[in-house]
Amino acid sequence: MTPDKKVKILATLGPATKGIDDIRQLVEAGVNIFRLNFSHGEHADHAMRFEWIREVERQLNYPLGILMDLQGPKLRVGRFAEGKVQLQRGQALRLDLDATPGDAQRVNLPHPEIIAALEPGMDLLLDDGKLRLRVTAKHADAIDTEVLNGGELSDRKGVNVPQALLELSPLTEKDRRDLTFGLELGVDWVALSFVQRPEDIIEARQLIGDRAYLMAKIEKPSAVTQLREIAQLSDAIMVARGDLGVEVPAESVPQIQQRIITTCRQLGRPVVVATQMLESMRFSPAPTRAEVTDVANAVAEGADAVMLSAETASGDYPLEAVQMMSKIIRQVESGPDYQAQLDVGRPQAEATVSDAISCAIRRISGILPVAVLVNYSESGNSTLRAARERPRAPILNLTPNLNTARRLSVAWGVHSVVNDRLRQVDEVVSTALEIAQAQGMASRGDILLITAGVPFGKPGSTNTLRIETLL
Ligand code: PGA
Ligand code: MN
Repeated sequence: MTPDKKVKILATLGPATKGIDDIRQLVEAGVNIFRLNFSHGEHADHAMRFEWIREVERQLNYPLGILMDLQGPKLRVGRFAEGKVQLQRGQALRLDLDATPGDAQRVNLPHPEIIAALEPGMDLLLDDGKLRLRVTAKHADAIDTEVLNGGELSDRKGVNVPQALLELSPLTEKDRRDLTFGLELGVDWVALSFVQRPEDIIEARQLIGDRAYLMAKIEKPSAVTQLREIAQLSDAIMVARGDLGVEVPAESVPQIQQRIITTCRQLGRPVVVATQMLESMRFSPAPTRAEVTDVANAVAEGADAVMLSAETASGDYPLEAVQMMSKIIRQVESGPDYQAQLDVGRPQAEATVSDAISCAIRRISGILPVAVLVNYSESGNSTLRAARERPRAPILNLTPNLNTARRLSVAWGVHSVVNDRLRQVDEVVSTALEIAQAQGMASRGDILLITAGVPFGKPGSTNTLRIETLL
């Protein structure tokens, strides 16, 4: 398969996908990495989809990433004697640790860590932010609140406390069981929900070790505040706009998205923009104009990847959603301003050989009509530094390591070829030319840039840049 876009597509799988043929069609339409969402479904369902993806990867000989997404803590109120209550603006409501069913005066909040973290003046959001309560007083095992935004509140509705830092691990007992299962299965990536601080990443990394790459979901204000540290400790970042848009005012999400993309690009961490991108395509074969613009903006802002959630997991038009996303991406990428816009946001190169070479290939591919940039990489690190420059030509990553290819499935502009004979390459130039041609990325007369570490096979040794014409 010859890549026809630089920005990657991350698609969530669910009941809308019935088998291997469906997956193959999604990949042919542009999916590079799949998400198994452990907030839904049984382990057996995830295992089945996992095998389907691996089978399609073999059939197409095209590396595909698999991301398991951990649910994280779900904070909820308890139940009501009548199943629900109507809360009026200005009234008082107590939240306590008493499991007795609630009424319009009080309800159970079975989370002592929330009560401990809240102080008078702080707000609680209920039911995806539809209701808002302000804390007026705090007791040992209860808080009193005033209703700022009223409405109906029913059993087990979700609670968000954006202003509080909770003494809560991002990994619940369920998450730990899911993680064990997913790592056993062999997922390439783990996405971590409910990240509040850098220590959360360290905790997850200790459990995961080097068995999978780690993607931190930015969905809480405290994670936005400590974004740099969190991104530095992670292998990639997801702008999780669903929960983020509840925890911060919806109107500040676009600016936060742009800031996250800029920071991730500076650090060379792939960044995925997620949630509601083509939401209306769950039930409609065509998206709204606003959704098309949202995807196009994420691409123009320099994101590595865009994500589909329910659109592909449970929607009526999963294939159409991927096709539409690919079309939008290709359209933006072929526009006259795309490359110039990416150049404006270009981060400073660090004083390393790898960055010096990455910087050079971007400049050369702006001067000469370079068809493809070929980089030999065992770990993928030098390829990520090249992608960080957002060069005009696509990047062909040659690696003996399948895990590296799956790692780079989420990275901007990178197409990987995995081959065991790349472990020991004597003819760096002729091998690169041959593979680029076989992949349909270069033809006779094309100029290629080839970068590698010589002697070959030592990580972090990239030191050679060749300019070659395919004869
Ligand atoms: P979720 O994450 O779908 O697991 O909640 C994405 C988001 O919050 O946007
Ligand atoms: Mn979320």
